[in-house]
Amino acid sequence: MRIAVIGAGFTGLTAAFELTKKGHKVQIFEKDGYGGGLASGVRRAVADYPDEWEWDLDCFYHHWFTGDREILDLVAELGLSKRINVLRPTTATWINNRFWQLDSPWSLLRFSPLPVLSRFRMGCILAYLKYLQRTSGVSWMEKLSAKDWLSRMMGEKAYRVAWESLFIGKFGQDYRAINLAWFWARVNKRTSRLVYFEGGFGDLVEILIEKIREKSGEIAFNRRVREIFNSGQGIWLEDEDGKKEGPFDRLIFTGSLPTVLELMHDLPEAYQNNVRSQRMLGALVLILALDKPFMPGVYWLNIGEEDWPFLSVVEHTNFVDKAHYGNKHLVYIGCYLSDDDPRIKMGKEELAVLFAPYLQRINPQITKETITTSSRWLFRNKYAQPVVGLRHSEKIAPLRLPTDNRVYVATMSQIYPWDRGVNYAVEMGKRVSALIDEGSLE
Ligand SMILES: Cc1cc2nc3c(=O)[nH]c(=O)nc-3n(C[C@H](O)[C@H](O)[C@H](O)COP(=O)(O)OP(=O)(O)OC[C@H]3O[C@@H](n4cnc5c(N)ncnc54)[C@H](O)[C@@H]3O)c2cc1C
Repeated sequence: MRIAVIGAGFTGLTAAFELTKKGHKVQIFEKDGYGGGLASGVRRAVADYPDEWEWDLDCFYHHWFTGDREILDLVAELGLSKRINVLRPTTATWINNRFWQLDSPWSLLRFSPLPVLSRFRMGCILAYLKYLQRTSGVSWMEKLSAKDWLSRMMGEKAYRVAWESLFIGKFGQDYRAINLAWFWARVNKRTSRLVYFEGGFGDLVEILIEKIREKSGEIAFNRRVREIFNSGQGIWLEDEDGKKEGPFDRLIFTGSLPTVLELMHDLPEAYQNNVRSQRMLGALVLILALDKPFMPGVYWLNIGEEDWPFLSVVEHTNFVDKAHYGNKHLVYIGCYLSDDDPRIKMGKEELAVLFAPYLQRINPQITKETITTSSRWLFRNKYAQPVVGLRHSEKIAPLRLPTDNRVYVATMSQIYPWDRGVNYAVEMGKRVSALIDEGSLE
């Protein structure tokens, strides 16, 4: 079959890889000038990446968990398992003007902002969620707000001190409605040992693209698709320069769910309303390249304070050796944003000035000038985090379009209850390609 794939993120690349292996003729259309989507590397995304840096840095901070089977299996299939590094970096939370390591039962027991009994109670609840299996889980959990359930089970104070700022930072005004199944999925799947791909995830993207090309798959960069339509003989697409491609026997769209409505105009009203009811938040990261370490050995710092302008500080070089990046200390300052947030329009310098006083609380030695002059790259994506409210399973869009069962929509809004991630993009890519290859009609 002749198949079009829109998007060269991990979902699109995996689907294309699987379909080319089965002998289908696949063409990928990607709006950016490089592959990888949210997991792309800085080297190909900017013009000023230092040539002497040995490894590619990720545009948005990335790691995998040791239980991320789908992506680890794909890496093994590509013969690259020797490039997998499993590490145990430190994760902490910033509360009451200091670091609190919070990445194991033992560190939780030392978490003195809460009374001993509260710590123990929180530990029991997290252990319960960790070992609760999916079969007994999602349907009852998705009817409950995570905030309400956690406050009740851990105690109001424990929830407020340890979790509330993180929920607000991640979901903004929607945080009260986030369902418990989403929280369970995070606790259940996460491991304290983390995985990094030697050379950076951008390197893996390039290898995958090469494999697709070896099997006669084609990939066209800088081709933003603006319309998908049915000509009667097959499916066609049109890019933003008005160039038409087709006819295709099948088409997979792997961008974000809300953009489906911009590309296809004959969708039933119920489908449109359902998509419109699913909010997504954007993400922003400012990357600092510093000459000195920023945090004392901490890789991941969650900000547990109210009203800070960022949610996390990720010191990549406390996870991966700085020698791979010209001995620079690389720090991501990250936050999630709704459409109307003023930070969405701010430039690198403006954000550095906004973040500086808060970064100085974490590291009083760093000057405002160092922060502004070391701010190297800024990455933003409008559709980064699906908001999963109550009974979200009822909203999951089908993989096949109701109006045309040759058109598939495979996005991060459809992997629920799991949180967005490369592992689930690979799983989604495999799922949609298997459906197409089997030619089954659900
Ligand atoms: C801040 C942040 C941190 C993250 N950290 C991690 C992590 O540590 N570990 C992890 O596993 N995951 C992480 N993720 C999530 C992970 O990156 C994504 O879930 C995954 O990469 C999604 O892959 P995808 O292919 O489904 O979508 P995307 O990566 O969004 O790819 C979609 C592609 O489609 C293209 N596209 C969209 N519309 C069009 C169009 N009209 N025409 C042509 N092309 C189009 C886009 O340019 C893009 O390349 C993180 C995400 C963010 C935002």
